Amino acid sequence: MSESINYIDTQAVIVGAGPVGLFSVFELGLLDISCHVVDVLLRPGGQCAELYPDKPIYDIPALPIVTGRELSDRLMEQIKPFSPRFHFGETILKLEGSAADGFCLHSGSGKIFRCAVVIIASGGGLFVAKKPSIAGIERYEDTSVFYAIREKSKFLNKSIVIAGGGDSALDWALELCGYASKVRLLHRRSEFRATPASVRKFEDLLSRKKINFTIGSVDSIEGNDNGDGTISRLVIKDADGNKTYLSDVDYFLPFFGLTMRPGPITDFSLEMADGGIVVDTHAFESSRQGIFAIGDISQYSGKLKLILSGFHEAALMSHKAHEYVYPDRKLRFQHTTSSSSLRKKLSGA
Ligand SMILES: Cc1cc2nc3c(=O)[nH]c(=O)nc-3n(C[C@H](O)[C@H](O)[C@H](O)COP(=O)(O)OP(=O)(O)OC[C@H]3O[C@@H](n4cnc5c(N)ncnc54)[C@H](O)[C@@H]3O)c2cc1C
Repeated sequence: MSESINYIDTQAVIVGAGPVGLFSVFELGLLDISCHVVDVLLRPGGQCAELYPDKPIYDIPALPIVTGRELSDRLMEQIKPFSPRFHFGETILKLEGSAADGFCLHSGSGKIFRCAVVIIASGGGLFVAKKPSIAGIERYEDTSVFYAIREKSKFLNKSIVIAGGGDSALDWALELCGYASKVRLLHRRSEFRATPASVRKFEDLLSRKKINFTIGSVDSIEGNDNGDGTISRLVIKDADGNKTYLSDVDYFLPFFGLTMRPGPITDFSLEMADGGIVVDTHAFESSRQGIFAIGDISQYSGKLKLILSGFHEAALMSHKAHEYVYPDRKLRFQHTTSSSSLRKKLSGA
């Protein structure tokens, strides 16, 4: 019976390949701790790659401006010397064991990871788009209806209708204006929930007729006759139920936000508070020894959900993880600049 079970033995398992999970590979690698990284998504980068790959981030130390995708690519480059093993498209469903006996993590496809330490870097959890209730919308999904932008280039010189009144709707309307051939924003009201600076930019573009705005919501989608998932026109309804039509629509982007469900980690018997895993701030260890939580999922007094906070947490976590992985070895603190052994690891020599 055990032959059919796919056991994977490693020192550390990182749940989540977001920026913080990726940087943990580096910090653990410096201390000779090898790891497997598991993510339900098909690519690394977490929120950066999934929610804002083309948007600039301004508060990564020493990188004055970097897009979500570029940050993820750079982290992948930085961790190369440690040859982490990735398991994309896999959800960690169950966690068993203890620091004394070792841990077992079970994935949805039947893999069982056995390890000495577990690093939960699962961020906000599993991504779920808030979908509008439009009958039959699933027929157009991934062809002409998208709930997130992964490749901005797809929209070059295309005619776009964006629905929503929050930051992602406004930000993408601004970003695609002048890049797409036509950008129309659709919102139930004339007031927006987006940051005031974005609203001001939008109103400026509107006054200069660079962008279009319609008050209303999509009542239904009419497709082209061949049923290939392309849109013939959108039927728009206003607050009084009056209908109008938007034709010449290549893509319809309903941006009503994404919700993130914590998912299976809530069943891992860890102390939780405010949707996060409670940790100490010495090593970001959870209520169970040998299980760490870093990045957006960790919860402690003063927590800031910032990438740079997660990087700091990864460094401290790694030093404590070393105690479990190498109980008989004393860890000597070293700088990468001055340690020849660290430089050797990083250069792959
Ligand atoms: C629009 C937007 C703009 C932002 N701008 C900035 C900014 O300018 N500066 C800044 O510092 N921060 C910014 N942030 C916040 C930043 O993106 C997060 O702090 C950061 O992504 C957290 O990284 P993480 O690795 O902890 O988690 P995430 O990026 O959320 O990654 C977690 C990963 O874990 C995976 N996962 C979850 N559960 C499981 C499971 N059970 N099994 C397998 N995989 C699982 C998820 O699929 C995901 O890939 C922004 C966020 C948003 C939404």
